[in-house]
Amino acid sequence: MTITPLMPVYPRCGFRPVRGEGVYLISEDGRRALDFAAGIAVNALGHGHPALVKAIAEQAATLMHVSNLYGSPQGEAFAQRLIDNSFADTMFFTNSGTEAIECAIKAARRYHYVNGAPERHTLICFGNAFHGRTIGAISATNQPKMREGFEPLAPGFVYAPFNDLAAADALIDVNTAGFLLEPIQGEGGIMPATDAFLKGLRALADKHGLLLVLDEVQAGYGRTGKFFAHEHYGITPDIMAVAKGIGGGFPLGACLATEKAAAGMVIGTHGSTYGGGPLAMAAGQAVLDVILADGFLEQVTAMGARLEAAINQLIPNHDHLFDHVRGKGLMLGIKLKSDSRAFVAHARDHHNLLTVAAADNVVRVLPPLIIEEAHIAEFIEKLSAAAADYQAPAS
Ligand SMILES: *Cc1c(COP(=O)(O)O)cnc(C)c1O
Repeated sequence: MTITPLMPVYPRCGFRPVRGEGVYLISEDGRRALDFAAGIAVNALGHGHPALVKAIAEQAATLMHVSNLYGSPQGEAFAQRLIDNSFADTMFFTNSGTEAIECAIKAARRYHYVNGAPERHTLICFGNAFHGRTIGAISATNQPKMREGFEPLAPGFVYAPFNDLAAADALIDVNTAGFLLEPIQGEGGIMPATDAFLKGLRALADKHGLLLVLDEVQAGYGRTGKFFAHEHYGITPDIMAVAKGIGGGFPLGACLATEKAAAGMVIGTHGSTYGGGPLAMAAGQAVLDVILADGFLEQVTAMGARLEAAINQLIPNHDHLFDHVRGKGLMLGIKLKSDSRAFVAHARDHHNLLTVAAADNVVRVLPPLIIEEAHIAEFIEKLSAAAADYQAPAS
């Protein structure tokens, strides 16, 4: 047998973490790496945050899992806090981002169905989008590398180039249910929606009675210095998928909606065995306590500005390699002039610096939201050293 015990769908590297301490990961062979990847924007509080660890341990000992057939004081309390701090009136808890997207797609279709327009089933999606790996989520992206070999995919998705409002407008027809997009594309290479684009989609949705569905799985939950990324744009969605940072490492996602947009999601239309269980809710509460604490989001904004400025200062010293830096808050992308995957591997293997590659030759910089100035200084030192002794592979 040559197949590995873990289905070989990931190109796993030689760095094998066994312990985490704040902003550091320690590997099986004792290497200590600065973690500016944070599980791809998941470990919002870093590793081993005492309040999160304590909340999970205490809840595990009290009540780990019950069925969604029972009343949920834990779920109601956590949902209410999210409602109090967002556009939403209601939500469905999931165990991952892609499940939150599935719920969002279903809610959008059901909204039109219960409003007497079942033909309005198609979501207008965008180039280079990433929404997860279920059949529904890969149907909502036009990226061939995610779709190939999995056809037939779900019908009801069409695609316009990202940030092209006219192209999105031109796709609207009698079958359109709404728009689905990331306000800042993550896997697509830290690509923010322009102000005119996102505001324009909101206006088009209002004009045609469509739903604006946002995927804030990566950009949401404090990552950009606002609780949700759409707050930068002065608009609100009708439906929104959240995950990654929301559980700080505990598997948790949510599909948030307005009362109007959730009109179709009535008894029997959706479900999950694990979604919103007491353990996940305890983790969510502990993360939220930190994120909503006075001054926390301001600190994320300040650290993001410092980090971006420091990267900008470094770029001219290595302008054969670095092109520019873009993004918001602590969701930054360094655009390289050559393959970003090779550079991410070099920084990891030779300088104990963890970042994540993305499309468009971008190195994603997604540190835990709790970083301090000393971590930024260490990051810049490591990044500079990595750039200095890096040989881009011949193309
Ligand atoms: C990670 C991600 C997803 C998928 O989340 P999973 O938890 O891996 O299912 C969906 N959308 C965006 C924008 C993401 O970054």
